[in-house]
Amino acid sequence: MDKCIKHTKELVGGCMWCGKRLCEFCIARKEGLKVYCEKCAQQLGPPRRSIPVVETKPVAPVIPERRSAPRIDKDGYFDFSTVRP
Ligand SMILES: [Zn+2]
Ligand SMILES: [Zn+2]
Repeated sequence: MDKCIKHTKELVGGCMWCGKRLCEFCIARKEGLKVYCEKCAQQLGPPRRSIPVVETKPVAPVIPERRSAPRIDKDGYFDFSTVRP
């Protein structure tokens, strides 16, 4: 089994960027299964914070204002005089 020259530790993986073989002490950054060496981790910058995805709610359909229904007068006719445009 290959060992890290620097740390004399068992190599556990390779840098995702440069392919350098790394032991657990060489790993400067870990992103899930991806590992990065110190040099590449610095180039990547500070670790990205996972921003919670805010679900955009569907916009409610605009309901037009209800217009006043025509009144029926005493004679059984629609009284349109009360209807506003
Ligand atoms: Zn690297
Ligand atoms: Zn090492």
